[in-house]
Amino acid sequence: MAGRETLTMIKPHAVENGNMGNILAMILDAGFTIKAIKMVKLSLHQAKEFYKIHEEREFYGPLTEFMSNGPIIAAILEKDNAVEDYRKFIGSTDPTKAEEGTIRKLFGKNTRENAVHGSDSDENALIEADFFFSKMERYYN
Ligand code: ADP
Ligand code: MG
Repeated sequence: MAGRETLTMIKPHAVENGNMGNILAMILDAGFTIKAIKMVKLSLHQAKEFYKIHEEREFYGPLTEFMSNGPIIAAILEKDNAVEDYRKFIGSTDPTKAEEGTIRKLFGKNTRENAVHGSDSDENALIEADFFFSKMERYYN
């Protein structure tokens, strides 16, 4: 059975542009519950750890620089089929290929600065949630 949790980040440019409220409102309207949330500025070291799975990719350096450049919002979202539904809701990695009405279509600037992160599997959702949040910081079950 699919898990009920996914991990999202609102990326630095979207926070800086003042879009965090709009994005969080859309997330709630789409039926996700916020189980944990915080604003945090990642160090370059932390960004590299979070995206370690991509360390061989050519975009790893610029991505981790960008992600540690300003504060982000990290949140654990809860909903049936959370990982898949959230990926659908945010749209394709490249905002120009994302469907109309998706978060990345609306708020993404380019393939790197694509407004939000969404976990790609239940297993990674758990790992990513543990990266940001202790048990004490989680609510609603
Ligand atoms: P997603 O976030 O859709 O799961 P990936 O896991 O493949 O995408 O990549 C992680 C992040 O790395 C993307 O959200 C994006 O910020 C960045 N990224 C991915 N592919 C590219 C690319 N070709 N050029 C620049 N940045 C990229
Ligand atoms: Mg990914």
